[in-house]
Amino acid sequence: MKKITSVLLASAMLGAALAGCGGNNKAEDTANTDSGAATNTANSGKTADMPKVGVAIYKFDDTFMTGVRNSIDSAAKDIATVDIVDSQNSQPTQNDKVDLFITKKYNGMLINPVDRTAAGVIIEKAKTANIPVVFLNREPLPEDMKKWDKVYYVGAKAEESGTMSGQLIVDYWKAHPEADKNGDGVLQYVMLKGEPGHQDAELRTTYSIQAIEDAGIKVEKLAEDTAMWDRVKGQEKMAAFLGSHGDKIEAVLGNNDDMALGAIEALKAAGYFTGDKYMPVVGVDATAPAVQALQDGTMLGTVLNDANNQGKAAITVATLLAKGETPTKDNVGFDITDNQYVWISYKKITKDNVADAQ
Ligand code: BGC
Ligand code: CA
Repeated sequence: MKKITSVLLASAMLGAALAGCGGNNKAEDTANTDSGAATNTANSGKTADMPKVGVAIYKFDDTFMTGVRNSIDSAAKDIATVDIVDSQNSQPTQNDKVDLFITKKYNGMLINPVDRTAAGVIIEKAKTANIPVVFLNREPLPEDMKKWDKVYYVGAKAEESGTMSGQLIVDYWKAHPEADKNGDGVLQYVMLKGEPGHQDAELRTTYSIQAIEDAGIKVEKLAEDTAMWDRVKGQEKMAAFLGSHGDKIEAVLGNNDDMALGAIEALKAAGYFTGDKYMPVVGVDATAPAVQALQDGTMLGTVLNDANNQGKAAITVATLLAKGETPTKDNVGFDITDNQYVWISYKKITKDNVADAQ
């Protein structure tokens, strides 16, 4: 720890001029976690004007986040040096990664929290080290967002995706009287929920059903369970729903495409999608396999969760903050709401407009 003071002094004096010298991520010149604000002025990027941004994804093994990750990577190309790491669905692992980003004196951080309620701790660490932080996909609580003005969130309004997925079912129900299989005037449905506590899981579940009721359709929930955003779990839960409710089920709502695709597998195994046996299934995301399912006629509809623009906006905001600049509509290309939020719109996708999702 003795060397720290001199290194910090040197960093401060050299400022951006330090950029270009290699080996600056070595352990010996990095231990500054107790040093307080304004110590990370030295650009540790390879190019003088390219800030280094540490990116932690909640887990690499998530279909939607893989799309976002690829978008971050390609959008970063000419603007930032990114170090993208896998938090392996463990908040303690992610916290270690954040500590490492701070130790390495990165200029900015882009975090997809494992547990969104852990954002507060990350914000405190970031503030102490004076490293701006952008969160994405898992929205920090409002009280945490207020802890520092160099904290941003890039995401999509969960309510909107819920409403849209409900509307997809409404359109189908109204156009297809035979969808009311038992003719009781009530829509019997099952719900495959994402990870409990995730804003997208909670709000999509609520708002999708709200949209159906708002359209004047009576609903009856036959079953609801979490499949944790996961395709295999979606298939297992759907098989269980079919086991207990069989042909009473008139619609399947999935909080994301992976779970909806899993449900479609279970439905196929139960004889659906051959002959007259059909089940309306909706998801959210518009991933490539979901678009394929729309074209195959197995998935009724989905909602575009714009991985491309979310990744692009997130790395753009993180880069601007890392350079000490203020994100605006002009330099980000998207509206900034309440000085801290960038909201990317959703869009309803069916067989008829798949091109919009590709
Ligand atoms: C997506 C899911 C994804 C989750 C990860 C949601 O917005 O719709 O597919 O698993 O984010 O946090
Ligand atoms: Ca019915």
